Amino acid sequence: AELYGIRNWSAGYFDINQQGEVTIKPYGVKGGPAISVATIIQEIKERGYNMPVLLRIENILDSQISLLHHCFHDAIVQLGYKGEYRGVFPIKVNQQQQVVEEIADFGKSFHHGLEVGSKAELIAAVSQVKSRKACLICNGYKDEEFINLGLHAMRLGYNCIFVLEMPGELDTILECAKTLNVVPQIGVRVKLSTKATTGHWAESGGERSSFGLTSAQIIDVVDTLKANNMLDCLKLLHYHLGSQIPNIRDIRSAVMEAARIYAGLVQEGAAMGYIDLGGGLAVDYDGSHTNYVSSRNYSLNEYCTDVVESVMTIMDEQNTPHPHIVTESGRATVAYYSILLFNILDVSLIEIGNLPEKLPEDTPEPIVNLKEALENVNIRSLQECYNDALYYYDEVRQLFVTGRATLRQRTLAERYYWAIMRSIAEEKDKLKTVPKELHEINSKLADIYYCNFSVFQSLPDSWAIDQVFPIMPVHRLNEYPDRRGILSDMTCDSDGRINNFIDTQGMKNTLELHSLKNGEEYYLGAFLVGAYQETLGDLHNLLGDTNVVSIRVQEDGTYEFVREISGDSISDILAYVEYEPRRILENIRHNAERAVRNKTITPAERFSIMQAFENGMRGYTYFER
Ligand code: PLP
Repeated sequence: AELYGIRNWSAGYFDINQQGEVTIKPYGVKGGPAISVATIIQEIKERGYNMPVLLRIENILDSQISLLHHCFHDAIVQLGYKGEYRGVFPIKVNQQQQVVEEIADFGKSFHHGLEVGSKAELIAAVSQVKSRKACLICNGYKDEEFINLGLHAMRLGYNCIFVLEMPGELDTILECAKTLNVVPQIGVRVKLSTKATTGHWAESGGERSSFGLTSAQIIDVVDTLKANNMLDCLKLLHYHLGSQIPNIRDIRSAVMEAARIYAGLVQEGAAMGYIDLGGGLAVDYDGSHTNYVSSRNYSLNEYCTDVVESVMTIMDEQNTPHPHIVTESGRATVAYYSILLFNILDVSLIEIGNLPEKLPEDTPEPIVNLKEALENVNIRSLQECYNDALYYYDEVRQLFVTGRATLRQRTLAERYYWAIMRSIAEEKDKLKTVPKELHEINSKLADIYYCNFSVFQSLPDSWAIDQVFPIMPVHRLNEYPDRRGILSDMTCDSDGRINNFIDTQGMKNTLELHSLKNGEEYYLGAFLVGAYQETLGDLHNLLGDTNVVSIRVQEDGTYEFVREISGDSISDILAYVEYEPRRILENIRHNAERAVRNKTITPAERFSIMQAFENGMRGYTYFER
């Protein structure tokens, strides 16, 4: 547990049992049953699903939604705030129908709404929202059709609010509303001057951000609405500082600034009623509770209290009624709910083998120097030996390229090089301060564990923005992990690897892993992957969507496989990139028939070859055992 920091990042949802298996505790810190992930994997396999599998635990999603509402509710009651909390889920964070449906179903009693940013998302949302009180927030650039769809949703009784991203949208909304004879609800997205000081998305905020209106543009909106006698349609003020805001001080400053603008709009005569803080509630991926990019220096309680208190202070100061508070928390709502499970296909180790006692007479000089460097490694000469190893190994490679060293000599040099690196790695741990260059030796020497998944498909943020996800073995945790490795995925891309892992002390570039056992699968899990990863993923090397299995756990610890979706077949994937599976088979059949005519295969062999291709097209895109 210590090695992987599970208790720091799991928020109470994951732990390790006495058998050394990761367990899921769907009721989180409240206690309740603990289900072994290894057992779930066996049951998934018995049902005929191969790894990789995205496992969703529905109770965790429910738990996160109720936590959010309860924390806001507690803050509201404690502080005597007069407005209500109205959360919305931004569909872009995970658009999968199962996810949105579960949020809408479970969120109904809390009037948890949805946020959309496109026509497709709006249509999906209208089909799911169950509560008429829940907000349906329309962000994003809106054409006439988008606006008409939103107005129709209002006619059906949905609480739909159009948030202006650009000043030009107002005229279209007013025209469409007039034509359809619907009174619209309008919000404005403001460009705050507050910016997040840390985090990947710091540039999403600030006056130069690409989204939202300046205060001058907001005043123009007020004047236009006034001129049309429609100021009572202006209901909401929205901003979004960026996702994953690690520092609570940034969150507080932004709320204060927005609250003042809100009060200003009320003074201008706008009806208002809602202040919408956007997303940004961070997930503590590394469990460090700091203002690092992958963490946050606040608890959910602190977030809710700070938000409610800041809005209330400014409203009271300005004698303004307390608005309903909307947040568009996506990441924090769904991240914990999915785990990517995958098996290890193979391991590549650095094998040094036996080194000769004496080198042959004709050995090139740089190899002799490498042998001497190895014999000289000691605590005082580490940096020097390291430099020598790099230098002489490079010289041998040059000799080889120019034909002055043989393949065997080059191989011998390579073995000396790794022997020196290993010897330095052992000695360096005795030093109080390790020279900077030598830090990377562990990852140089690390084993490469080949994993049955695609980083590009299943963990795109790990590749695109170096997002760190907690990754660890899900069983064998009462055996000492005797190896250190990095992970390489199934794509043939050098970016398809992971060499940044979470530690209780911070980050590390290798992961403690177990040696593979003959005939036994070794399973790892990538945790907290429920937000953003599913639809951002791509089809690199034509590796498609993984199998998805959702479970729901009862209080007595029994659980049900409530939903299952088979991953893409090879035929599905080829169709995405515009091949016609039937034409593919026809072409292959044509080639096979030519081979029969040329007598290189028999007609019966043609039959079995065609069967293999037909079965292949129906198969999973990942490695199957
Ligand atoms: N709202 C808007 C307008 C966004 O652009 C985003 C994503 O960046 C979110 C909400 C969700 O943010 P988060 O996932 O940090 O809660």
